[in-house]
Amino acid sequence: MKIAVIGTGYVGLVSGACFANWGHQVACVDKNAQKIAALQNGIVPIYEPGLDELVERNFGAGRLSFTCDLLEAVKGAAMVLIAVGTPPRAAHGDADLSFVFSAARELAPLIDDDTVVVVKSTVPVGTGDIVQKIIGSVREAGTFSVASNPEFLREGVAISDFLEPDRVVVGVEDDRARARLTELYGVPLKARKTPIIVTQRRTSELIKYAANAFLATKITFINELADLCEQVGSDVSQLAVGIGLDKRIGTSFLNAGPGYGGSCFPKDTMALLRTAQDYGVPLRIVEETVTANEARKRRMALKVTDALDGDVEGLTIAVLGLTFKPDTDDMREAPAVPLIETLQRFGAHIRAYDPVGTENARRVLSDVDLHTDAYECARDADAVVVVTEWDDIRNLDLMRLRRIMRQGVLVDLRNAFDPARAEQAGFRVSAIGRRPAANRYEAHTATGHSQVPGHAVFARKAENVQPQSAGGSIDHR
Ligand code: NAD
Repeated sequence: MKIAVIGTGYVGLVSGACFANWGHQVACVDKNAQKIAALQNGIVPIYEPGLDELVERNFGAGRLSFTCDLLEAVKGAAMVLIAVGTPPRAAHGDADLSFVFSAARELAPLIDDDTVVVVKSTVPVGTGDIVQKIIGSVREAGTFSVASNPEFLREGVAISDFLEPDRVVVGVEDDRARARLTELYGVPLKARKTPIIVTQRRTSELIKYAANAFLATKITFINELADLCEQVGSDVSQLAVGIGLDKRIGTSFLNAGPGYGGSCFPKDTMALLRTAQDYGVPLRIVEETVTANEARKRRMALKVTDALDGDVEGLTIAVLGLTFKPDTDDMREAPAVPLIETLQRFGAHIRAYDPVGTENARRVLSDVDLHTDAYECARDADAVVVVTEWDDIRNLDLMRLRRIMRQGVLVDLRNAFDPARAEQAGFRVSAIGRRPAANRYEAHTATGHSQVPGHAVFARKAENVQPQSAGGSIDHR
């Protein structure tokens, strides 16, 4: 099948390369001429593990092409997928659909009859209806279809997510779109028995937002429980394993941290709330999730300040990891940004290290010394703060790190390190959802019994259970 993909960002490029890998003839089109020129020269403009090889292989085989010319891309295409951005509108928080609507207006006069236009971008309920009207204003009704096919891939593991999805969701209003989309996914995913949910367009659009709101809520739930763990002397990593192994709960998205960020959860939860408001339906759990997450991101600077005895003025803080999660260069809504900005306002001097995100970080941060080596970043620092748990940060030699620092304070916002090992290396550790061992001991000896009913017994039991790893064995992405 010939397919055109409009927008070669994280979703468009991964989708295009994966469709080509399934044997389709794919033309990826983008307005950004620099991006297209880079791709034509074999340079993939984003960091996504495995994407370079996938693009190179399919480009080399002649199945994948890149162009700025929309007509060239859509001519003869049986399907045109819209995968442009839907960022939040600054003042309102609802999704900015201008890129989707422009793409629809531009493609409308150029597509062949019988084309299925698929909205892959994350869009509010009813967007497909508007896209249908836009195209219908220049084409005869019945000569084209508009469908919804939200994308659930996660940056960092985008290719396996795309090629081996848990499910595929398609929203269709006619047989042509149903047949085309079930063929597109059904054939390559048949052997894996992947469920393909074929539903109405409006349901499909809402499924994407509901999924992201649920996941954001799950993260926020464990983050709040982490706060309680810190107060009562429990360990959130073990708590997460203890609840997550219940199949009704599941272990994913139960790693407590500094609050969710990224290009999807913050904007999608806000956009869902706007839709709910438009229809007069309160979504109180999602509202609380958004509020709690924002407050949490801001509070992380206080956690760092507390670890440094209440004052960071004039101190040097090394931030390890900047991107919103490991294995991506995406800095959109990264928790590192408000953390750094707040610490700067408190008078701290910030140095930072990220394995791949430095270039994107440079665009959103100012007055930060960016380093390409984690040890150099930490040299003479008063504290290191782990914000993103990249493998090469998890694998740092803590003894070496401590030796080159001025003060040995480790604020581990991702529970990337085993606190006992860090303490052995000479660090004073402040982690998420667990008290440092020293404090736990003080709590017992100072009063002879726990300040929280049942705490002493539970703490002793908990200490006998080894966490499966410093960060637990939970899939957090
Ligand atoms: P992105 O910002 O990385 O890329 C969007 C691309 O579209 C840009 O390269 C831009 O130049 C191009 N573009 C915009 N208007 C165009 C037009 N009229 N013609 C041609 N090109 C145009 O966006 P992204 O992160 O890939 O996200 C795309 C959509 O997918 C969003 O709705 C997002 O919410 C959704 N989504 C993203 C992810 C993710 O992990 N990034 C996951 C699932 C869904």
